[in-house]
Amino acid sequence: MDISTAMLLWATEGTTLAVLMVAAWLHDRSQTVTGLWGLGFGMHGLGIALVGLRGVIPDSISIVVGNGLVLFGIVCWSIGILAYDGKRPHIWLAIPLALWLAMLCVPSIMAHFWARTVTFQLCASLAYLMLAYYVLKGGPDSRLARLSFAGVVWIQAGSMIKMAFDAYRFRPDGFAQMPNVTTFAVSNIFCLVAGILLGARLLMARAEQRLHKLAISDPLTGALNRRGLLDRFNDMCRRAPPAKPLMALVIFDLDHFKQINDRYGHSMGDKVLVAFCRVAQACLGERGTFGRMGGEEFACLMHVSGAAEASGITEAIRLTLKHQETAVQGTDQTICVTVSAGISVSPVSKADLDQMLLIADRALYAAKAAGRNRAALASGAESDIAIIAGSDRSPAPDSLQGTETLARGQVVPLAGGRA
Ligand code: GH3
Ligand code: MG
Ligand code: MG
Repeated sequence: MDISTAMLLWATEGTTLAVLMVAAWLHDRSQTVTGLWGLGFGMHGLGIALVGLRGVIPDSISIVVGNGLVLFGIVCWSIGILAYDGKRPHIWLAIPLALWLAMLCVPSIMAHFWARTVTFQLCASLAYLMLAYYVLKGGPDSRLARLSFAGVVWIQAGSMIKMAFDAYRFRPDGFAQMPNVTTFAVSNIFCLVAGILLGARLLMARAEQRLHKLAISDPLTGALNRRGLLDRFNDMCRRAPPAKPLMALVIFDLDHFKQINDRYGHSMGDKVLVAFCRVAQACLGERGTFGRMGGEEFACLMHVSGAAEASGITEAIRLTLKHQETAVQGTDQTICVTVSAGISVSPVSKADLDQMLLIADRALYAAKAAGRNRAALASGAESDIAIIAGSDRSPAPDSLQGTETLARGQVVPLAGGRA
């Protein structure tokens, strides 16, 4: 195979990949990386085609524009990987291209094929080394795919440094006198194919992560769903800090939630669910995992040193919600929502989710029966349920009916809670 055929193959391959990736990006424009990699392949393919047309088109276009586009293509791949990791492009990325254009201003470099080759191969290998650096420096996800991708980019950079060395040693006047030029072009094609396969692996890994996140998230609140909580429970059973040998499961159930839907509409109910999630997640912080079990029922998992710690955090969530008012859309009214909670605690080594759910449910039932807006702690045995004493309760109105008479701007209590 002669060098022109190899370059034509190389350019065709790059352009085909560009078309595929741009089409994928047009399908889902949120995937900036696909668009940037498509642009990179397009620039790279066009650049290689221009270089391959040496002698057919003016030298200035083939040398300056052709090689410049090849370098710009590599820069686009680096910007793409930075976008993949949620980072902005760095100004350093312009160095290889700027260096190439600056060197061409030196007459002795522009005048000699071998000097241009040395300069271009070194600029391109610098651009490839930057690409490999950004691939490896990215997030902790897909380490193996990142390492293999960076490995292929290193091979490409290495083969370009070798070509620069050969060009310096043999001082060729054109492609025909370049030693091993066909091997070099074929190795470039191989790296391009391997690079795109491994790059696609990275894109697929990200798509899998997005799907997994969707599968374990509640669409309304964004919190973990039941499946997500189950996964976290299993993770937490595997790793317990020595100072916190107990697992606590708390089930929260909003009080008289149906009345909110009935009185203010389903969307207000949704707003309250989201507000409760925010409150609970803010109170819990890094101390545990919070999620929605379904409907107006939520759960929280924590490693704790004792039942008192679990009760303290549960009370913090309950009281914060009680003191937070939720605005009713389109009015000056706010409503005050309360929650009841059932707590179950077990040694991490013996923790069984079904059993803990059953026990926490029993405690929740006791909290509701005791008048709602309170938490109950179950320590295992059916009779062993303690209502956690709180000094914040006061006699509550019987139903929401009373809200009709409240003036605008007042806080509306729900039955069983207090404003
Ligand atoms: P209790 O104090 O005994 O828990 O009474 P409650 O009204 O909170 O409980 P109940 O089980 O009677 O009603 C739960 C309501 O939650 C019924 C259902 O329509 C509503 N609900 C379930 N999921 C959603 C949701 O995603 N959005 C809204 N707005 N309402 C929901
Ligand atoms: Mg319920
Ligand atoms: Mg409820």
